[in-house]
Amino acid sequence: MASEEQSTPTLECPDTQVEQSETEELLSALDASAASAGRSSPERAQSLIDSAQRLAEERLGMVGALFVALGCKHPATAAHSLRVALMCSRWAAAIGMPDKLRMQLEAAALLHDIGKIAVPDTVLTKPGRLTPMELRSIDHSSEAARRILAAAQAPQQIIDGVASTLAWYDGTHRSIKTKAEHAPYISRMIAIADAFDSMTTDQVYRSALPHERAVAALYDNAGTQFDPGLVTSFVESLEKDANSEHSLEERWVSHLSLPEQQPLWLPSPLLEDPDAEAKCDATHTFAVGLIASSHDAVVYVDDQLKITYWNESAEKMTGVGAQAAEGSKFSPGMIALSRDSGDFIEDEQCPVKRALVNGMQLLERVNAVAAGGRPMSIDMHVIPMRDGAELIGAAVVMHDASSETSLERRCQSLHMENAKDPLTQVANRAEFDRMLPTFAEVHQEIGLPFSLIMTDIDRFKRINDTFGHQAGDQAIIEFASLLKSMCRSGDLVARYGGEEFAILCADCNMSIAHKRAEQIRERLEDLVHEYLDDSSFTASFGITEMQVGDTPETILRRADRALLIAKDQGRNQVVQLGNGMTATGTGASKSWLSSAGAFFGFGVKKTCLVETKLVTNVPIEMAVEKLRGFIADRDAQILKADKNQLRLEVGDHEPSSKQRKSGKSDHGPLFLLDL
Ligand code: GH3
Ligand code: MG
Ligand code: MG
Repeated sequence: MASEEQSTPTLECPDTQVEQSETEELLSALDASAASAGRSSPERAQSLIDSAQRLAEERLGMVGALFVALGCKHPATAAHSLRVALMCSRWAAAIGMPDKLRMQLEAAALLHDIGKIAVPDTVLTKPGRLTPMELRSIDHSSEAARRILAAAQAPQQIIDGVASTLAWYDGTHRSIKTKAEHAPYISRMIAIADAFDSMTTDQVYRSALPHERAVAALYDNAGTQFDPGLVTSFVESLEKDANSEHSLEERWVSHLSLPEQQPLWLPSPLLEDPDAEAKCDATHTFAVGLIASSHDAVVYVDDQLKITYWNESAEKMTGVGAQAAEGSKFSPGMIALSRDSGDFIEDEQCPVKRALVNGMQLLERVNAVAAGGRPMSIDMHVIPMRDGAELIGAAVVMHDASSETSLERRCQSLHMENAKDPLTQVANRAEFDRMLPTFAEVHQEIGLPFSLIMTDIDRFKRINDTFGHQAGDQAIIEFASLLKSMCRSGDLVARYGGEEFAILCADCNMSIAHKRAEQIRERLEDLVHEYLDDSSFTASFGITEMQVGDTPETILRRADRALLIAKDQGRNQVVQLGNGMTATGTGASKSWLSSAGAFFGFGVKKTCLVETKLVTNVPIEMAVEKLRGFIADRDAQILKADKNQLRLEVGDHEPSSKQRKSGKSDHGPLFLLDL
C-alpha cells in the first residue's frame, strides 16, 4: 500500500530513506543495464526499469517518473543522468550550496537529458558521426525538455536549469546562440559535470578518456564552452571527493531530504471552487453518462485487478458481456493482448497490472483480438485511482486504433512510393525538391557546409540508339546504384530526370565534394558492362557548395551551370562553381573568377555574358581616376583606348587552381570589358 509520501510527488521523503547499500544496488543495476544498452535483452532493460522504478517511487515522485520515462527510452542516458546528478550533488556539498538550490541542481541534473526522449533512437545509438539533421535533433532536445517539464508542472527554476545546459558560456554553440554566461548557475554546473561524465564513460562513438585528459579538456574549453570559475571549482570538488574517506555518506541520496515544509515539485493544487459541493452531484451524473456511452471501451478494476465496471463499448469491442466480465480478474488473455512482434503479453507484463504496481499512468499501443476474431490495434490508457493516499484500482480506457494504425502505415508506404523513382529506387525529383530547402535550412542554421553534385550520363542517346532502350535503362540503374554506394549516410541521391542525377552531400564542403565526384567519375569510367558489349560509359559532374546569400534555386542553378560547363569542355569531367561558405574576401572573388574563367577561358564560348549600360554624373576626370584604380587593383590590361571607348582584359594571375582537369592553362583572359 502506498504511503502519503509516495503519493505526493515531491522530492522530500524523510521517512523513506533508502539504505546506502540499496542505493548502491540501484546504481549497479542501472550501470549494468546501461552497459548492455543497444544490444540489451528485454530482461536487462526491464531490470533497469524496475530499479529506476523503485528509485522513482521511493525517492523522487515527479522527477522520478520522468527519469523512468528516460530510462525506458535509452537506459545508457538514464544511467549517465544519474551519475551526473550524483556528481553535482557531491560538488554542491563541497561548495556548501544552500539546500534549496542543491535540490534544484540535483533534480535538473537528473533530468538534464529528458529532452532526448524526442531524439530518434537511431541517433542516440549511432556509432558514427552525426549528420547535420541528426545534430539538429539533439540541439532541439532542449526545447523538448522545456515542453516535457512544463507539462509535468516542474518549477520554472528546474525548467530553465535543464533547458540551458546545452548552451555555451560564450554563446558560440553551433546552433544555440544564448550565452550560458547568462544562464542559471545550476545549468553551468550541469554542463561541466555532463561533459566530464560523457568523456570518462565509454560511448558508442568513442572509448572513455582517462580522468586527467577529461580534466584537461574542461580547462581547454573554459571560457568558451564552460564557465571558467566553475571548471576550477568542479575539479577541486573531484579531488576533494577522491580524498574523502566518507564520500559514500555524502552521496546524493542523503542530500535529497528537504524539510517537510519545503516541497520542491508539487502538482498544481486544484482550484478551490466555492460551489464545488453543489456541482458535485451533477458532475457525477454527467461523468457516469459520459463513460457509459463513450465510444472507447472503459473498464474499472480494483487494486486486485478484479473488474468492477465494463461499459457497453467494452462489450462491443471485445465481444465479452458486462455480466461475464464484471467480477472476474482482468488478464491479457481475455482479449489476446499481444505486441507488434506477435508475442502474447504475459500476465506479469499486463499494462493494467504494471500501472497498478507502479502507481503511474501508462499509455501503450498493443494488439488485441476483437469480437468476431478481428485483429485490432488498441491504445490502452491505464490510470491508477487513489482514495487519498491509498491506491484503490485503475480505470482502463481502450481506444480502437486500427484505422489510425493502418492509416499511419498506408501514409508511410505512400510517402515511400511518392518519394522514390521506380526505375532506380533512389529519391525522385519531387523528393529532391522537397529536401533541398530543408538541407539548406538545416545547414545554414547549424553553420555547416553542404554541397550539391549534379551529374548526367555522357552521350546517353548513343547508348539508347546503339544498344537499345533496355540497355539504356540498365545503365541508368547501375549509375544510380554506383552513386548510392559512394554516398555517406545523411546524403540524398535523387534522379533529377532522364539520365541526370543530383546528390545532396551533407556536411561536405566543395573540395570534399569535388574529390568524391572525381572518385565516382573514375570508378564509372573504369566499369565495363556486359549489356553494352563490354564497353563503358562516362558522366559529367557539376558541383557547388552552399554560400552566403544562397537560396535553394541559386544553389541548383549554379550546380547546373557547372554541369553545362563540364559538358561544354568535353564531358567526363568535374567542374565546380561558387565560393562556398569558407571563402572570404578576395579569396572568394578569386575562386569565383576562376570558375567564371572556366566558362570564358578556353575559347569554347566567347559570347557576352553581361551587357550593362552604366551612367554616371560624376565629372569625367573622376570616373577616369576610379577606372585607373580598378585597372591597378585588378592588374588589368588595356587592349584598346580611344576617345570614347576602352577595352580591358581582366585576368586571373593567381597560380593555377587544382579544380580543373590538367592540361589546360588557368591563365586565360577572364573578362573582356568594353567601356
Ligand atoms: P549529353 O552528354 O549532352 O548529356 O548527351 P546525351 O545524349 O546524354 O543527351 P540528352 O541528355 O539530350 O539525352 C538524354 C536521352 O536519354 C534522351 C532520352 O531519350 C533518354 N532517356 C531519358 N530517360 C530515359 C530512360 O528512363 N531510359 C532510357 N533508356 N532512356 C532515357
Ligand atoms: Mg546525358
Ligand atoms: Mg540529360
